[in-house]
Amino acid sequence: THFGYQQVPWREKQQKVAGVFRSVAARYDVMNDLISMGSHRVLKRMTIELAGVRPGQRVLDLAGGTGDLAIKFSRLVGDTGEVVLADINDAMLAVGRDRLIDAGCGHNTRVAQVNGECLPFADNSFDCVTIAFGLRNITDKDAALRSMLRVLKPGGRLLVLEFSKPVNPLLGKAYDTYSFAVWPRLGKLVVNDSESYQYLAESIRMHPDQDTLKAMMDEAGYGRTEYFNMIGGIVALHRGFKL
Ligand code: SAM
Repeated sequence: THFGYQQVPWREKQQKVAGVFRSVAARYDVMNDLISMGSHRVLKRMTIELAGVRPGQRVLDLAGGTGDLAIKFSRLVGDTGEVVLADINDAMLAVGRDRLIDAGCGHNTRVAQVNGECLPFADNSFDCVTIAFGLRNITDKDAALRSMLRVLKPGGRLLVLEFSKPVNPLLGKAYDTYSFAVWPRLGKLVVNDSESYQYLAESIRMHPDQDTLKAMMDEAGYGRTEYFNMIGGIVALHRGFKL
């Protein structure tokens, strides 16, 4: 592939991902709107609804980037709750931290630079963990799933919003063609970086499909796992509980 994605060793993938998000951080939000044609906003709203977060709860938004979900959770958990916006990338977090402050969310949010494969938080300390369009970028997904389970309180839930496999093969083919044809060009135009968006299209191709990810969550120890297809399976929302 363009990046030799399938062959790159472990650490090299992490560095590649770091480079991608450092390069796009400043204009990440506008690119997100462009390449998803605004649909990521609706998908995130649905994620919030399924999270069922209540006032006073603690929420971890892992790979939270520029803080879309964290801002919404901050309003839901109120003064007695807490939201942690966590990401491995300092450039993405810097944008996220500024957005949280500008949105008036500074009082109940914290920002943490972490690797999702080995979270530095206490066992049983979050009511809800979310990871939106982030799992795909993590090298050791099984380790990340186990780490997220460890920090969840019993009864707590994980929500994974991620690109998945379109249910209709024709839609799948069309989407694949569209993403490889259009995204790198948009990337070139808006952030002068076509490679990052070529990576995005390739990483979607490589990501486990709905049932594989559900099986990985079962294997990691989550209970009552299920998924909801969105936009015909282009994106899926997986949910699992710590029982
Ligand atoms: N959740 C945000 C959203 O939906 O807009 C940002 C998603 S962005 C596509 C993916 C994020 O995953 C990037 O900010 C990247 O830095 C982060 N990431 C990649 N590998 C990570 C890791 N090992 N641990 C934590 N975050 C990671």
